[in-house]
Amino acid sequence: MAEPLATRHGTLAVPTFLPDATRAGVRGVSSDDLRRIGIEGVVVNAFHLLRRPGARVVQAAGGIHRFMDWSGPILSDSGGFQVWSLIRQDPARGVIRDNEVVFREPSTGEKWNLTPERVIGLQLQLGSDIVVCLDDCTDADAPEPEQERSVERTIRWARRSREEFDRHVAQRAGAKAPLIFAVVQGGGIESLRRQCAAALAEIGFDGFGFGGWPISTDGSLLADALAWVADSVPVAAPKHALGVGRADHVVRAAGLGYSSFDSALPTRDARHGRLYAFRDGWADTRPSPGDNFYRAIRIHDARYRIDHAPLEARCDCPLCARHSAAYLHHLFKAGDASAERLATLHNLRFYVRLLALLRRPARGVAAPA
Ligand SMILES: [Zn+2]
Repeated sequence: MAEPLATRHGTLAVPTFLPDATRAGVRGVSSDDLRRIGIEGVVVNAFHLLRRPGARVVQAAGGIHRFMDWSGPILSDSGGFQVWSLIRQDPARGVIRDNEVVFREPSTGEKWNLTPERVIGLQLQLGSDIVVCLDDCTDADAPEPEQERSVERTIRWARRSREEFDRHVAQRAGAKAPLIFAVVQGGGIESLRRQCAAALAEIGFDGFGFGGWPISTDGSLLADALAWVADSVPVAAPKHALGVGRADHVVRAAGLGYSSFDSALPTRDARHGRLYAFRDGWADTRPSPGDNFYRAIRIHDARYRIDHAPLEARCDCPLCARHSAAYLHHLFKAGDASAERLATLHNLRFYVRLLALLRRPARGVAAPA
């Protein structure tokens, strides 16, 4: 069983799911809502916060924790993935060079130069508990020369990030330092994934992220690549699977030793009326990879119009504890904003319950006396 992850804003029991509070908020719900359903930590995005409201605004508010009223651990993603996907969608938006990423704001023409150093400084300015090095993303199936270049840049940028981080931390002697995670690239090529992981481990980081798009084109998890990375970093190091969010994928990756996950999937699905529920008999059982332990509910379906039972009888979220499936169906049909809020809280509570099950000893393994 993995060690709990201690940060300067509290300790996370692992494995844990960290919702994406990309712009310092999980859309539609408050920080208080998140606390009440048992969420212990969140992920914000440094790049998006740089764009709006700007790091100075957050810093003037007293840091990211005060700004969003969240007293628990906060991991800040560098935004390397987001800037890469925006530029890939529209090359006019910017360019990724050996030494920096340049991004142009499409609406205002404003230009951002992201260097590894700037991205570390930005996350320290926000006051994040776990800062993440800028990495150079690729498509999982991009050709080998492109993967090689991405790995080479990612290692170089991680070294620069580490140096910048250490320089800042040395200046603030006495203050409790955040943790720093590096991100492993290499696409679907085993030798590159292992080479990248080993090089980052040699530089030395508090934890390691699995980077790049973690899902293959057929929708399955890139489990082999996740395994190579988990296997190539120090056994005891925290491992974060960026963007791994489907419940069965989380179960699989937790089985490979990943200790934390973040994904916009459960909250985005909730806003679209796609909710999750444990299948009968699974609400109290630790699922193993391959188990068919949950189902997706499309609350817009006509059959929920007159379903006056809770969405999931065993769920204790603010939706299921007080309301029926028919009520949520009605709120969605009526376009009421509380539909998205209640659905989001239900899906996140499902993840809190799932991760609590995954922290139990595996079936067939006796609990320590
Ligand atoms: Zn519920």
